[in-house]
Amino acid sequence: MKEPGKGPALLRQYNEKHVLSFLRRQRISSRLDISRALSLSKNTISLIIDDFIAQGYVTEVGVAQSTTSGRPKIHIALQPDKMKAAGIMVERQQLHWAVYNYFSDLLEEKTLAIDTAEPGPVLAEIGRICAWMYRRYPELIGIGVGFPGIIDPAAGFMHVSSHLGWQQVDLLAALRAGVPLPVGIMNIVKAAALVSRQQQTASPAHEPSFYLRIAEGIGGTLLTGHGVYYGGSWTAGEVGHLNVSPDGPVCSCGQRGCLESLIGLSAINAQLDRLQPGLQWANRGQAPQLADQVIARAGEWLGKALSQIIHLVNPRTLLIDCAYNVSPLFTEQVLAVARRHTLSFAYSHTQIRFLARSYDPAHGLALAMIQRYEQIDL
Ligand SMILES: [Zn+2]
Repeated sequence: MKEPGKGPALLRQYNEKHVLSFLRRQRISSRLDISRALSLSKNTISLIIDDFIAQGYVTEVGVAQSTTSGRPKIHIALQPDKMKAAGIMVERQQLHWAVYNYFSDLLEEKTLAIDTAEPGPVLAEIGRICAWMYRRYPELIGIGVGFPGIIDPAAGFMHVSSHLGWQQVDLLAALRAGVPLPVGIMNIVKAAALVSRQQQTASPAHEPSFYLRIAEGIGGTLLTGHGVYYGGSWTAGEVGHLNVSPDGPVCSCGQRGCLESLIGLSAINAQLDRLQPGLQWANRGQAPQLADQVIARAGEWLGKALSQIIHLVNPRTLLIDCAYNVSPLFTEQVLAVARRHTLSFAYSHTQIRFLARSYDPAHGLALAMIQRYEQIDL
């Protein structure tokens, strides 16, 4: 229960955030359509919209044809530049940040090299970037900061990151001190997964979907009707450590034959380099046949992993976000092997999609802050 007397104000705030969220998705609507869609009285909506107009968040953009009641319907549009959000992503020896407006249109981004050996200097640098961003973009409503590793987003605490070599870092405490804005902490793969729902590449919000990202590391995220599913200790979706080859190479986690140790970008580069010194995924055009050989094997391993994912969580859509998607040989192998190893009923009810363009986790981090801004607990 909230404090006595706060009820009506809180309810009003709740309704405002609800309208804001609706307008962000629809971009243009009318008082009547909002009232119908949100099952709120036209009077309530009119009061909120008049207030939004007075504050400049919403503008009237024209009159539509008369409705059946005979009254003109005035279209209203949310002004996306009145509120902005930013994402900052840390990876090994690299930092990437991006600022977005309220419709998630990219305004500015930058990638820079940074020494990530120790958390202290990295967090200090992020603090400086946040302060600079706030001066440059006073409309910021929040900054999402993402890291690889096992992260408790509610506490803003990193338990361990094998990629950065960090453990037990209170990220939120370090960042919140110097930043005059809400700061959110997330795992970068879980943040990137949020973009799939926004861009409607995943199944509708009430259906489960699984997002799998293959880069230097491999991670995944199950999205349910409630959003990101974290599991009991924030590791749900860590499919990089599914065992797909019992005799495979030793992984960074110490086990043998993990998916990541076989088809992560550095694993692929190491396999190419063994076949022809200097050959990498980026310059694979120098020896296309060797690259095909390596990438076809990678497709087989991924296909096996997908079969395990489908059996375990039965997603409606399975999204593969990966540089190898450009190779038809890879995608064919993935599908063929996944089909062979999966119950046919489950396989035929799963849509496997290969993304043509990778999602930027910074986009997802900014989106997470927008979604948080729109939430209010009654
Ligand atoms: Zn592993």
